[in-house]
Order: sequence, then structure tokens, then C-alpha cells
Amino acid sequence: MTRQSAIASSALPISIRDLLSIAIEQLVKNSDSAELDAEVLLCHCLNKNRSFLRAWPEHQPSPAQIAQFQMLIEQRWQGKPIAYLTGQREFWSRNFKVSPDVLIPRPDTELLIELSLALLPADRPCKTIDLGTGSGIIAITLAAERPLADIVASDLSAAALAIARYNAERLDAGNVRFIQSHWFDRIDETGFDLVLSNPPYIANDDPHLQEGDVRFEPDSALISAENGLQDIRLIAEQARRHLKDGGQLLIEHGYNQQTDVQAIFTALNYRQFTTHADLSGNPRVTSGIWNPI
Ligand code: GLN
Repeated sequence: MTRQSAIASSALPISIRDLLSIAIEQLVKNSDSAELDAEVLLCHCLNKNRSFLRAWPEHQPSPAQIAQFQMLIEQRWQGKPIAYLTGQREFWSRNFKVSPDVLIPRPDTELLIELSLALLPADRPCKTIDLGTGSGIIAITLAAERPLADIVASDLSAAALAIARYNAERLDAGNVRFIQSHWFDRIDETGFDLVLSNPPYIANDDPHLQEGDVRFEPDSALISAENGLQDIRLIAEQARRHLKDGGQLLIEHGYNQQTDVQAIFTALNYRQFTTHADLSGNPRVTSGIWNPI
């Protein structure tokens, strides 16, 4: 008997405790985080937080809530990422809408935020652009943390931009302008203090693409030609025409791309580049200055 039919065929009222134990038993075969997954999905269906589950284990969800939970557990069992099932993910203490049209926010990307906040002044205007914004986490976080900054966010995908615009509106980030563009192709503005991006940087034969959540994420946000380096190269090339003298380029990259990215920066005459490690200690972001005075 499948798990779903086990729930459906039970004639007895079903409590939170029952639902969780049935779901965990099903998920444990496919997920390392079965208990957490089941709790997060049940919270989503009940529109409650996890302490509610602990406080009210005998509570009986409505038939509609149970049906929704069953459907989500089934999809999780098939591997679908939790963030796509709940439609949201937290980043830098804010909640962002996500969908399979955008990459799921990762803690690694907080390094880009830390480095950007150190560069962008809080007390006067500055201008920055986030290329390939996806759900908008980088641009919107910077906009919220630096209300005087003028921020441009671009993406090639209209579906991604719709999500980013929704997030900007919901989080009250009025200082972000969205533009549909492949990198700088449709951007004329110059004089940026900071150009930053979390571009696709995975090689198309990387076995990591066949594992876990990434299987469900858009290839256009993950995979780049030239062994994962083509988009980083394009951005670094094009950014030179849009940065002001002394402006900074900040690019997130793979844990093993430090040497290659630094070689790209060197060939394009960026100066004073540094590669910064993420929270797990992996080289993750390289910064460079354009034409330091
Ligand atoms: N860091 C992500 C991963 O390894 C990839 C994100 C990206 O390509 N920009 O799954």
C-alpha cells in the first residue's frame, strides 16, 4: 500500500502526529531531512509555524489540508525541492517568492551581499547593477540595506523578472529598476560603482547536476559553456564599458574556478583582484577594480 492510500483509507480522524509519522516514514527513503521536510510542508498547508505542530499534535487538519499535504509529500518523494513546493525561501532574513523559473537562494550568495555592503556607502547615493537577478535576492537585499542606492537588476528570463518584480514590491524595494537583457546587451547606462552577478557557472557535464535540488532548477541559471566560464568571461568583458573608473566587479563562481576567474580578470586588465571564501571555506567570489586611479 502506498503512503497516500494509507492516509486516504484510514477511517479514523487524522492528527498532526499521525500525518507527520506517516510522511516521515515515506520520505526517509529519499531525503536526508525527512522530518524537517515533513514539518515544513505541513506548516505550509496549515499556515502555521513549527511550534504549532509541537504544541498541538492531536489537532486534526481539514480534509483539504490533508489532501494538499499528501500531494506535497508525494512531490517531495519524487525529489522536488522544498522551496519550490512552498514557493518561498529565506535570504538575508527576508522571505522571497521562488518558482522553478528561478534558482533557489543559497547561503553561499550571502558572501556577495557582505562584500557589496562593505563597498556601497549607506550615507550617499551610489549606482549598482545585479546581472542575472533571478528571484531578485541580491538586488532587493542591497536595495533594502542601502535605500540611497540606485539599483538596476537584469535578467534574460521574463518569467524570472516577473518574480523579482513581485518580490521587490512585496519587500518595498522602490529603488530597484528591472530590465530584460542578456548581461549588458540591452543596457546603455554607464558609471556604475559596482557590477555584480551570480551567473551560471557549472560545466554541462558536471555530475553534481544530476543530484538533489539542482535537477529541478533552470539550466539557464546553472550551466555555462567553456567549462562553466563563458558567462563569467562575457560579464567581465562587457562590464568594463559600464563601470566608472575605480568601480568594482564582484562575481560568484564555483569552488574550483578561482584560478580561471583570476586569469580572466587579469587578461581584461582588472586590478587588485581578490578571491573571497564562503561560509564553508570555499573560494566563492572574486572581486576586481576597473582602472584604479
Ligand atoms: N552554487 C550553485 C551550485 O553549485 C550554482 C549557482 C550558479 O550556477 N550560479 O549549485
